[in-house]
Amino acid sequence: EQAQLSRLRRQPTRTTDGVDIRLYANAESREDVAEAHALGADGIGLYRTEFLFLQRRELPTEDEQFLAYRDLVLGMAGRVVTIRTLDLGADKADHTGLALRSESNPALGLRGVRLSLAHEGLFLTQLRAILRAAAYGPVRALVPMICCREEMVAVCALLEAARASLVADGLQAGDRVELGAMIEVPAAALALPDFVDLVDFVSVGTNDLVQYLLAVDRNHESLASLYTPRHPSVLRLLSELFAYGRRNGIPVAVCGEMAGEAENVPLLLALGLRDFSLHPATLLEVRRAVRECDLASLRRRVRSLLRAHDRAGIEAWLAR
Ligand code: PEP
Ligand code: MG
Repeated sequence: EQAQLSRLRRQPTRTTDGVDIRLYANAESREDVAEAHALGADGIGLYRTEFLFLQRRELPTEDEQFLAYRDLVLGMAGRVVTIRTLDLGADKADHTGLALRSESNPALGLRGVRLSLAHEGLFLTQLRAILRAAAYGPVRALVPMICCREEMVAVCALLEAARASLVADGLQAGDRVELGAMIEVPAAALALPDFVDLVDFVSVGTNDLVQYLLAVDRNHESLASLYTPRHPSVLRLLSELFAYGRRNGIPVAVCGEMAGEAENVPLLLALGLRDFSLHPATLLEVRRAVRECDLASLRRRVRSLLRAHDRAGIEAWLAR
């Protein structure tokens, strides 16, 4: 079993009818990056930068961040790396005192890009570090918890300001850093056409999207059975996002846990996903699942998937 999987390290992630699917890795440590590279990931689709801020009281300096991001870029040897800007708050603990401890509803509070925009100096430092790392290889910046155009406008302005300040300081920056939004808030999924001109790509964070779409806390033990992407509303929203991306030439990836579960592969391919981002631990299983799928026949079955009324209906579709 392990040996069989291991043989897939050097195989393409290709459906039986010859379509290549991209598998990017989610990473938050040096080990994850090394593993992603060894498994032949197409790049890093989600680099969580929170770990630089956790378990400590002082904020990381620009140089410290730059060195971490540069190592990441060098570790992927020319494959694209997607660095997510700070996503502290809510379920992501914080010891630096940045996130408010007193919020009555932290998941709906000051978190993700909201926190970064509330601390412009901190955000500029991170953007400068990302731009500096981009001088060493292809880098994309990904912004968590976007919910409206105004936030994207503010991020674009700060990215330009960060670039201008690097030039003024005589520091090197990558010429082109693509900018993306995470789609985790249902409003952002519906409003994508309103800010699509400001992004080069989007990545769907289904962990949070499911939480906000279904109004179920992602970490609530006794609600675990309600917290599932196998809900008709989740599938319909994903299907629309993928179709919108295809029509408009905007890459739409999924970087939530859903994309790392091999059982979901037929479902996601049927809905139209081509870019998966997942933890290296399940990359080979997902590759194997893709290699067992006939994309054309899955696409023909998507209507019946979207007609499922409930989880049982979705699972019956998967079992056929
Ligand atoms: C997500 O919300 O799906 C996601 C990838 O981000 P995180 O799990 O870090 O919130
Ligand atoms: Mg999230």
